[in-house]
Amino acid sequence: MIKFLDLQKINAQYQEQFQEKLKLVLDKGWFILGDEVKTFETNFANYCGTKHCIGVGNGLDALILILKGYIELGTLQKGDEVIVPANTYIATILAILQVDLVPVLVEPNIETYNINPNLIEEKISSKTKAILLVHLYGQLCEMDAINDIAIKHDLVVIEDAAQAHGVQYSVSSIQCSETRNLKLATRNSSAYSFYPSKNLGALGDGGAITTNDDELAKVIFSLRNYGSEKKYHNELLGINSRLDEIQAAFLNEKLPNLDSDNNQRRVIAKRYLSEIKNIKIVLPRVDSIDNHVFHLFVIRTKNRQELQDYLLKNNIETVIHYPIAPHKQKALSSWNNLSFPITEKIHDEVLSLPMSPTLTNDEVSFVIEILNRY
Ligand SMILES: *Cc1c(COP(=O)(O)O)cnc(C)c1O
Repeated sequence: MIKFLDLQKINAQYQEQFQEKLKLVLDKGWFILGDEVKTFETNFANYCGTKHCIGVGNGLDALILILKGYIELGTLQKGDEVIVPANTYIATILAILQVDLVPVLVEPNIETYNINPNLIEEKISSKTKAILLVHLYGQLCEMDAINDIAIKHDLVVIEDAAQAHGVQYSVSSIQCSETRNLKLATRNSSAYSFYPSKNLGALGDGGAITTNDDELAKVIFSLRNYGSEKKYHNELLGINSRLDEIQAAFLNEKLPNLDSDNNQRRVIAKRYLSEIKNIKIVLPRVDSIDNHVFHLFVIRTKNRQELQDYLLKNNIETVIHYPIAPHKQKALSSWNNLSFPITEKIHDEVLSLPMSPTLTNDEVSFVIEILNRY
């Protein structure tokens, strides 16, 4: 069986390192916000080219804490509207709802699956204060167009990078000098998840926020830990969402391999893109391989169930990301009558092929061969 994602195999490579790290943390006896978390925050900030990284409990909390941080600073106020893609994992939308902001859904481009920048401006009102975008499946959104809109309308840009560790938009690096870029660089923040199946995955839950914004970082460092900088002195109404010391220790071992893992994913994706030739299968549009870390390789097909069954019969495991659009979920029943036809079509037709840095060349060849015979 070719697994969709072999987490056992991915983590087996680190078995000895993990055991050493576990022993180290046990020997120290310090389990919350210790040296490993601090080191990871420094390492991940350096990796992302940002000034700050704040380790938190999971990806959803990373999004919530960014929004809470902006509310605390007065940049956002309850009731403000946030532009968000209709085509995303529900976490992105839940984060907005949980802090009493108003999600305004925008359709994606059907070829890239990412938010369509040409459809954003018609959704902007006097209440719109932020764009929360998602680099879905690991592909960078059309950032130049989105940032132009953000500057024109004075919106903060928040990135849900839960599927896109390692994807970089150049102006988010602090080295840039133009004022336009500087403004963008300081007004951006990104949310990451280290859920085990992500490109950088922990052995449990984990998340992080990166930003160049000093004030935002300061507030979030406090909010994630009961709104307290000094123990038992609470300045803000915070929450408890801290990256585990033990997870940070594991992540410190895995981070040095993230780039090579992502490159291995690109090698596989390049083969899928050039060698899958079947009129019943629509391949994703990838404008630049460098702007994609292939968290998932997602195709579209009219008769998805049939294709998925056929692949399974040939010992190839696939997964659907995602079967139901957020606005069609029971939890969002007041939205169920809204119509987002492109989003709905994507949810009806997508199928994620096996994608993992541990896939062998022969396994990839086999998947391609079986797909071309379908
Ligand atoms: C995984 C994911 C999240 C949530 O991450 P958790 O760590 O599971 O909370 C948010 N947004 C997107 C796009 C994701 O893929």
